[in-house]
Amino acid sequence: MFEATSAEDSPAAQDDAWRTILPADQTRHLRAVLLGRLVALCFGAGVDSTALLVALRAAGLRPDVITFADTGGEKPETLNHVQRINELLARWRWPLIHTCRKLTLPSTPYADLYGNCWANETLPSLAFGLKSCSIKWKTACQDQFLKGVARGPAARPPHALWLRAQAGGERIVKLIGYDCGKADMRRSQTTRGADADFDYLYPLQLIGWDRADCVRAIALALGAHMVPVKSACFFCPASKAWELWWLAAHHPDLLEQALRLEYRALTGRHSRFDEVEFGASWEALVRTADRFPSTTTTVGLGRSFAWNQWARVNGVTDELFQVRRDAASRARFLAVAEAMRDGGDNALDVRCASAAPDTGASLGREPVACDVRAVDLFAD
Ligand code: SF4
Repeated sequence: MFEATSAEDSPAAQDDAWRTILPADQTRHLRAVLLGRLVALCFGAGVDSTALLVALRAAGLRPDVITFADTGGEKPETLNHVQRINELLARWRWPLIHTCRKLTLPSTPYADLYGNCWANETLPSLAFGLKSCSIKWKTACQDQFLKGVARGPAARPPHALWLRAQAGGERIVKLIGYDCGKADMRRSQTTRGADADFDYLYPLQLIGWDRADCVRAIALALGAHMVPVKSACFFCPASKAWELWWLAAHHPDLLEQALRLEYRALTGRHSRFDEVEFGASWEALVRTADRFPSTTTTVGLGRSFAWNQWARVNGVTDELFQVRRDAASRARFLAVAEAMRDGGDNALDVRCASAAPDTGASLGREPVACDVRAVDLFAD
């Protein structure tokens, strides 16, 4: 583990230690691509974006702006991680993470994604194979932070980095923490390399780090205690089974909130659940059946399965659908979560990155020519 002191006041040996995290060829590659660019790093507060900070630091590169989007549904551990990383960044003398939130009108009956779903009696759009939950609650507010907003509840002037880019005819490059796992590779290949406002780069893929490499780099550079939990809304439809067990063990109150949201969405006025197709009501199936018949219809937060049914069948909840909180139950939940977790691989993970661009035709992801200024820590 290396002391995370800033390059400015750290001894040369300290810098050498940092450089061992990233071999010389990878360092050269990152610097060739990023040196001189105006850089906004989208921090998702998970393993990948934390490793992205480590990789940049090891390469002697410092982003101009770091943003994190809080949907209001982040787990407490994730918010705590943002705080701890900010303490680290202060010691590095880097820009601190700016937390971006979507701001709603006073007349809007919700202020976060959970409230949005609750008010509309629906699930996050990912449950229906769409991405508007992340576009609306993550991407848009980070873009607004940079570009500014002329009017409305989120009104704010453009960020100095945006003004600088506009004045100099330059483009800001957004760094996204996609790693070399299957899902992230697939996502980056179907994602545009640029849009009207920003270029997008995936530095972890440039240096060939997969999720295991990211975990190793964080542990080596910052200590194992700085490897974060998976960052996502506690009611994210992309949650894997082990994450549900983990949530039951650590945050039974949040799991109950998610179960209530699912119940409201599947039994409420906008429910697409068809009793005729299934031969029984959603609630009856959740209470009595072991599973839903095979279907392409979204039947719950798990898309093909309902979290409520999963919780009942697995003894996670009692007959009132309250999550069991006794010590023995929590120990069991934890043990199952640990046994099921797959070492952090994200091969099947389809949830959003912090501020990934919209998908579209690939514009090619060759390193962009380095045409502008640098923030070069090696030169400090
Ligand atoms: S974490 Fe999941 S629910 Fe939350 S915004 Fe992203 S895709 Fe939607």
